[in-house]
Amino acid sequence: MLSEVERRFRTNLLEWGQKNRREYPWRELNRTLYEVFVAEFFLTQTPAGNVAAVYPGFLKQFPTLDVIAEATEDELVEVVEPLGFQNMRAAALKQIASTHDHLPTEPASLMALPRVGQYVANATLCFARGDRLPVLDRNVERVYRRVFRDRWPETEADQLTFTQRLVPDEARAYNLALLDFGALVCQSEPLCKQCFANEYCAYFIESESYG
Ligand code: SF4
Repeated sequence: MLSEVERRFRTNLLEWGQKNRREYPWRELNRTLYEVFVAEFFLTQTPAGNVAAVYPGFLKQFPTLDVIAEATEDELVEVVEPLGFQNMRAAALKQIASTHDHLPTEPASLMALPRVGQYVANATLCFARGDRLPVLDRNVERVYRRVFRDRWPETEADQLTFTQRLVPDEARAYNLALLDFGALVCQSEPLCKQCFANEYCAYFIESESYG
C-alpha cells in the first residue's frame, strides 16, 4: 500500500521520465541481456560518456560470452583500458565467460558472479527484461532520502524493501527515470525550484521553512 506522497512521486516521476529520458546505446530497446549487462558492468564507477565511447567497439569485438571465453585476458584489457580498472574488469569478464554459456536471470545468481553487486544485477534484469526490481545506486538513494526523509530506512536491505514497493509494472521506465532524475534535477546541488516534487519533498519543505 502506497502513501499519497509515494503515489504522487511515482506518477510524477514516470511523467517526467517520458519527456526527459537520456539516450544511450545500451538503452535501445531489444538489447540482449548480455548487452545490457556489459553496459551496467562498465558503468560501475565510470561516467556514462566514457562507457559510450567504448561500448560499441567492445560489443563488436566481443558480441557474446562465448567470444570472451575464447579471447585472451590481454585482448580484453586492451579494449576496456579507457574505462579504468581494466585488469579487474577483464579478469571478471573472462571468469564469467569461462563458467557460463548464458547469464543467469535471477538476481541472486547474477550477484554471485565476480564483481557483480545488487545494483548491476537488478539494473541488468530490469532494463533488459523489464523485471520489477528496485534499482538503487548512490544517486537514487539520495533522491529517495530527500523526498521521504524520516521514512527512508537506514539499512540497505530495508531500503530495497522500501523501494521495491514503489516500482510499478512499468519498471524499466520508472527506474530509468529515477536514474535520469538523480543526474539532471535532484543532483548534489538540487534544482528544487524546477522540480515536480517540491510540493511534497521533505528536504525542500524543510529547507524552505528554515528560510
Ligand atoms: S524538491 Fe529538490 S530535493 Fe526534493 S526531489 Fe526535487 S530536486 Fe530533489
